[in-house]
Amino acid sequence: MTDALSIIERPSPNNDARPGGTAVDILLLHYTGMKSADAALDRLTDANAKVSAHYLIDEDGTCWRMVAEERRAWHAGVACWAGATDINARSIGIELVNPGHQFGYRPFPARQMESLTALCRDILARHPIPPSCVLGHSDVAPERKEDPGELFDWAGLATNGVGLWPERDTSGDQELPFEKAMRMLTEIGYAAPETPVMSGPARNVLLAFQRRWLPSDLCGALTPATAARILEVHAALKSA
Ligand SMILES: [Zn+2]
Repeated sequence: MTDALSIIERPSPNNDARPGGTAVDILLLHYTGMKSADAALDRLTDANAKVSAHYLIDEDGTCWRMVAEERRAWHAGVACWAGATDINARSIGIELVNPGHQFGYRPFPARQMESLTALCRDILARHPIPPSCVLGHSDVAPERKEDPGELFDWAGLATNGVGLWPERDTSGDQELPFEKAMRMLTEIGYAAPETPVMSGPARNVLLAFQRRWLPSDLCGALTPATAARILEVHAALKSA
């Protein structure tokens, strides 16, 4: 990554001060879920909308900065990760232009991913964000959100030094008691319910996990492949 990323300033009024002393330790990725970049820019800079992100990246790689990194942007909403709930206070948010599941979800083009990778690497050099805290919106809000979704290339991002991607051991599926799977998901960071049996919230957390780590198995059930993947991700995070 030798080319410096050029960034267009497009300030949003939708931000406030980070609470004193809060370090940035989460990088949170989104898709816009809107029909065009212009529509997303308008909304993310509209004072009445009360939403924003620090950056927006178009499908052609164009990058806008809407909120300075030292300020709190308003992108996570009601969210939780590893027991923390004010995710905006401790995160930097990046929106990726994509119509999303509502308007025609499609792959993220190479130029968009190249800009994202360059931006993320710069951010990680500036803030103490561990690889395990490069997250998707659906990871921190599994009840409400599906972005950036199952087409997002987390493996490619990790190959370029951003976030974690433990290789899949395809040699064997695993069995995992439901309650233990929920406990391991909690230890990974998800707001998983303590339950020995399937429930609505448990299904949503399993869907979020699969969307992120096992998109080929996006079913919301604790399949043997999902159990194996939970064990792999859990082990990778513990050793990271
Ligand atoms: Zn989002």
